[in-house]
Amino acid sequence: MECAQATWQALGFDSLRSEDSARLLEKIFEHALDGHALISQSRGEPARWLRFTQVTNKTWYHDNLVLIGDAAHTTHFTLGSGTRLAMIDAVMLAQSLYEHEELSAALQDYDRRGRAALRPIQAGARTSMAWFERADRYLDREDAVAFTYSMSGRQGGQPPWRYQMHLATQIPALRTALRGSHTARRWYLARRRGEPTAPR
Ligand SMILES: Cc1cc2nc3c(=O)[nH]c(=O)nc-3n(C[C@H](O)[C@H](O)[C@H](O)COP(=O)(O)OP(=O)(O)OC[C@H]3O[C@@H](n4cnc5c(N)ncnc54)[C@H](O)[C@@H]3O)c2cc1C
Repeated sequence: MECAQATWQALGFDSLRSEDSARLLEKIFEHALDGHALISQSRGEPARWLRFTQVTNKTWYHDNLVLIGDAAHTTHFTLGSGTRLAMIDAVMLAQSLYEHEELSAALQDYDRRGRAALRPIQAGARTSMAWFERADRYLDREDAVAFTYSMSGRQGGQPPWRYQMHLATQIPALRTALRGSHTARRWYLARRRGEPTAPR
């Protein structure tokens, strides 16, 4: 759940205990939760509110120390890519170490390539974060279809056909077909990764 500062304060989330926050959220989202309780992600600990911590570094190495993943850079939660980016850093670092005999040359190469590859992703993450910070404005102004389109395109760079596609998904039969195709794709990818899949 993500909300604006004013909403957060007006509902008392800034002063409520974590358990009470969770109960209040259960009440607000009662319809969607259909009687279910919220499950904390923090292994039994009460749910906590998080503020995004932006981490940037001028360089990702110093002598023989290297930063990868969140230690080197963070991207806003709403991008949902932090884990993938951390893995990419590890792969890039391994590649640079493999390609260069000198440690300092390898780390310089990793630093240069890694930061260049991250720049457009961080730009998308900033746009996404800004969208969520202004979500109230969109809610007041737009209907549900326009709102969800603006949300799905919050990172920018949408191809022109994307809006037509969004409108098409408002037709129930097309939406069902699209959902079926997404499920099939997920099933195929899980199978290719060797994960157990239920028979289709
Ligand atoms: C609310 C939220 C939602 C997110 N959603 C997504 C998502 O949907 N998709 C996605 O890809 N990413 C998401 N992320 C980001 C993702 O969790 C991180 O980008 C990713 O975990 C970074 O991996 P990492 O290995 O760099 O760091 P971490 O996963 O933070 O690992 C660092 C580890 O180091 C340990 N550690 C810390 N200090 C020490 C110490 N002194 N000694 C020994 N160990 C130490 C920590 O306990 C931790 O286990 C989300 C993050 C948050 C907070």
